[in-house]
Amino acid sequence: MGEFIRKMDWSATSVGDPVGWPQSLSTSVSICLNSRFPLLIWWGKDLVKIYNDAYCDLIAAKHPKAMGAKAADVWPEILPNVLPMLKGILKDGEATCLEDQLHVIERNGRPEVCYFTFSYSAIRDEAGNVGGIFCAVNETTKKVVAERKLSTLLNNLFIQAPVAICIFRGENYIVEVVNKLMLEFWGRTQNEVLTKPVFEALPEVKGQGFKELLDTVYKKGERFVAEEHPISLMRHGNMENAFVKFIYEPLREEDGTISGIMAVAHDITEQVVARKNAEESELHFRQMADLMPAKITNTNADGRVTYYNKNWKDYSGMSFENFRDFGYHKIMHPDEQEEFKKRFNKAVETGNDLEMEMRFLNTEGEYIWHLNRASPVKDENGKIKMWIGVTSEIQKIKNEGRLKDNFLSMASHELKTPVTTIKAYGQIAEMMLQEKGDAETLAVVSRMGGQINKLTRLIGDLLDFTRIQQGKLMYNESFFDFNEFMKGVVEDIRHTSVTHKISYIQSAGAQVFGDQEKLSQVVANLISNAIKYSPGAEKIVITSTLQKEGVELCFQDFGIGVRKEDQPRVFEQFYRVTGDTQSTFPGMGIGLYICAEIIKRHGGKIWVESSSDKGSVFCLWLPSDYRDKITGLAG
Ligand code: ADP
Repeated sequence: MGEFIRKMDWSATSVGDPVGWPQSLSTSVSICLNSRFPLLIWWGKDLVKIYNDAYCDLIAAKHPKAMGAKAADVWPEILPNVLPMLKGILKDGEATCLEDQLHVIERNGRPEVCYFTFSYSAIRDEAGNVGGIFCAVNETTKKVVAERKLSTLLNNLFIQAPVAICIFRGENYIVEVVNKLMLEFWGRTQNEVLTKPVFEALPEVKGQGFKELLDTVYKKGERFVAEEHPISLMRHGNMENAFVKFIYEPLREEDGTISGIMAVAHDITEQVVARKNAEESELHFRQMADLMPAKITNTNADGRVTYYNKNWKDYSGMSFENFRDFGYHKIMHPDEQEEFKKRFNKAVETGNDLEMEMRFLNTEGEYIWHLNRASPVKDENGKIKMWIGVTSEIQKIKNEGRLKDNFLSMASHELKTPVTTIKAYGQIAEMMLQEKGDAETLAVVSRMGGQINKLTRLIGDLLDFTRIQQGKLMYNESFFDFNEFMKGVVEDIRHTSVTHKISYIQSAGAQVFGDQEKLSQVVANLISNAIKYSPGAEKIVITSTLQKEGVELCFQDFGIGVRKEDQPRVFEQFYRVTGDTQSTFPGMGIGLYICAEIIKRHGGKIWVESSSDKGSVFCLWLPSDYRDKITGLAG
């Protein structure tokens, strides 16, 4: 640029030939040319421009025309803005500095919005008057645009943030910025709060502890976090209670002093209210559970106790911790612990209720009978998440049941003796009538004998039933030939059955260990049922097959059959599918129960296959020697 200036014809400008320049101008031009920072000199009343290389880059296409040209010719677009100031400097000689000044300039043939930071200082001539202005200029367009973008971005972030935010400025906590969510939380409009001290804008919040918290943050400069804080706000004319989680973050200036606080808040009213309602309802449940006569527990999915009611506490005398950790299982009667475990595992597996009669130890050291029932509570995917246990005392019912059993046992004993005597007298009468040759009376007495046999069987069943209940049914066991045994029993029954033909398809010979008399009772019972429940049919088919370790015996009839849903229950005591047709099918509902008990005692199985219209097939399987399988029963 020095070269360019030297070669220029300055005499054509109002500055004149450099030879005549005042020393201050020459020195200023020299400083200007030697600097790498954009520098410029405005000289004389026309403000003629002289500038350096760095400035040349800045004005682009305005060079070279700008060199030695008048301000009015070079900068017609900005002169109206800066001229008053330049004139002022020419007049008063006072230096000035302007930052990030916006100018729309045409340095590339089109208008551009640009920002500049200027410093102006006067250059005095020999006479001491201000002859021109020395100007350092820095373009700040990129910086200003970047700052604007950042500020817009931050502003948007702030306004659109998914949490309520605001900034309190100064010690009076003037609301400087606030977003929509915070306004919604406060129940106020922007106009009602912006630029106002927050406790003036929200007077109802005064005295709720927030001011003290803000003061501490302001003073100590430490962030404060509140997980849950109650607040009452006047929202749209109504006083409302809410709960808020919030953070107060101190805002610092560059020198570290605190000038404000940013508040970030989250309205957690719904969660808190829901939680409080859930507490309350739990309390309600507990009160209810304590008032119930039953013992109640809650356990997690694994069966670990999480709650017990007052009844359990009083009954067991255990603290909750003891009950949970050892107690519940410890106070179960040892005889039922194994079975309980089995049933619990089954209930877990199937997701069904558990139901079991079992004994629990009380504080007096007695085992008392209870009906223990546990129901699973499942989540939305059907997975068990907890169990609710209801345990009711049934000792009284058990005692009554025992009294009933004792009565039945006594009654059947008392009945047995006279019936046996009647039977004996009947047999004597038959013999006497036979001798006399009174055929007519003999026929009547024989029929009476048949009925006495039925009565004897019924009393026998009752006796067996009560003995089973009391665990007193005696077994007299030995090895016997199964086919011989079956043939004998079937033969005996054939004599008495006039309606049905009973066929027996026998297996290969087998030796079985067991009580022949009890097993013959089972066979007789199954045959008499087959006859009783197939009134229109003519035959019963009995088949025995040799199985690997025992014999299977099936009794097929062609009668009324047993519906699928009744099949598992017909072996229960007193269960009668045909209960409502008592007159057609009389019975006590204990025959199959006794059969099942006897077969179980022999280590076997009993089941029924049937379809309602085709009749039934009752089957049993007997192991050759149950003692091989079941230890402990053998003695
Ligand atoms: P019950 O004295 O009533 O015959 P059981 O214990 O022998 O008592 O039988 C229980 C119930 O099982 C009977 O009431 C009847 O409903 C059903 N049942 C038993 N055997 C048969 C069969 N062969 N066919 C159809 N139903 C049967």
